[in-house]
Amino acid sequence: MMGGDGCGPGAGLRYEARRVADFLVEAASDGIIVLTGAGISTASGIPDFRSPGSGLWERIDPMEAMSLASFERDPAAFYRLALASWLPPLLGAQPNAAHLALARLEVAGLIRGVITQNIDGLHQAAGSRAVLEIHGNVQHVECRRCGYRGEAPPLGTERETELPPLCPLCHAPLKPGIVLFGEQMPPAFYEALALAQECAAMIVIGSSLQVAPAAYLPELARRLVVNNLQPTPFDTVAELVVPLPAQELWPEVVAELAERGLVSQ
Ligand SMILES: [Zn+2]
Repeated sequence: MMGGDGCGPGAGLRYEARRVADFLVEAASDGIIVLTGAGISTASGIPDFRSPGSGLWERIDPMEAMSLASFERDPAAFYRLALASWLPPLLGAQPNAAHLALARLEVAGLIRGVITQNIDGLHQAAGSRAVLEIHGNVQHVECRRCGYRGEAPPLGTERETELPPLCPLCHAPLKPGIVLFGEQMPPAFYEALALAQECAAMIVIGSSLQVAPAAYLPELARRLVVNNLQPTPFDTVAELVVPLPAQELWPEVVAELAERGLVSQ
């Protein structure tokens, strides 16, 4: 199975990277879209809140911490709870090797872009340009009263007295630019559906594909690759299933493609 690579450490990784590289080369001309979830950002220090044992939602009810109803009821309390739970790991997080590798694949013309369930903005920080954030991102805020959208002001516990941030135009509380429970999906989600239909292939990275409506996207793909540590409902229909950490697999894929002269060194 390992070909001529031997069986030392990294041999399995190189073998899988080569298979993924082959897929990219073969499918690129028909269009490849990448769908990412929490698993691509865990190496950037952002816990996958949904994975067993991460603990967050065992202590706090997500429907309370991330719902439109709780934001509208008491925006200051919403921000205090956010700062006590899901928000801090997202502030100041840096892209990891997987994000950087995807940016290089886009520049090389091997992938059309990235659809992400993540709200951390790390794909853009890594240099990806075609990014559809179907759950929004925390770098932005929006006003539900007048429609203002802007960059999120700095948030921190020392600024609690200034919570919630207020709209510069109409002084209503500013909502984080993410899709809360109870909100409609943003236009980016419908753009993602259209793009997924346009592309012949989809590569899923770091998503368990269990959260609707994002989980509908792989159903649109004619060819599918899944890179996730845990099994997903789509593994049986995927052409390739690679249960390796994204931050290890994707730099190796890029290195393999660079050796073939398909990605700039
Ligand atoms: Zn406003």
